[in-house]
Amino acid sequence: MKLSNRIEREKRTLAVMVKMYCDYYHDKIGSICSDCNELTEFAYERINRCIFQDDKPVCSECLVHCYRKDMRDKIKTVMRFAGPKMIFHHPILGIWHLIDKHRFKYIDVKLYKSF
Ligand code: SF4
Ligand SMILES: [Zn+2]
Repeated sequence: MKLSNRIEREKRTLAVMVKMYCDYYHDKIGSICSDCNELTEFAYERINRCIFQDDKPVCSECLVHCYRKDMRDKIKTVMRFAGPKMIFHHPILGIWHLIDKHRFKYIDVKLYKSF
């Protein structure tokens, strides 16, 4: 998996964050529970279809919000828990995550037709 590829990086970051959350709250060290697996699969599907692709911001800063309400609530909970820990547990992904967090400031959202 190439971290320089925006979509691959986002999927990797997502998987790491959900795993951290599941390990802590669902006691699933070594694997993830079915709920967290469902959330991961849902998020992968959204990320693959993201209209911004290489310019993708982090979903929490997105002006589109393509997630279903229930999944958006779940992912927000995961991000609140894992986001601040990323820099300590996964520093490279954590730094990329901070950079990606500010991506919308530098892209022109009007360029995206379905926005
Ligand atoms: S919420 Fe926004 S950034 Fe995230 S996948 Fe959907 S469109 Fe892309
Ligand atoms: Zn879980």
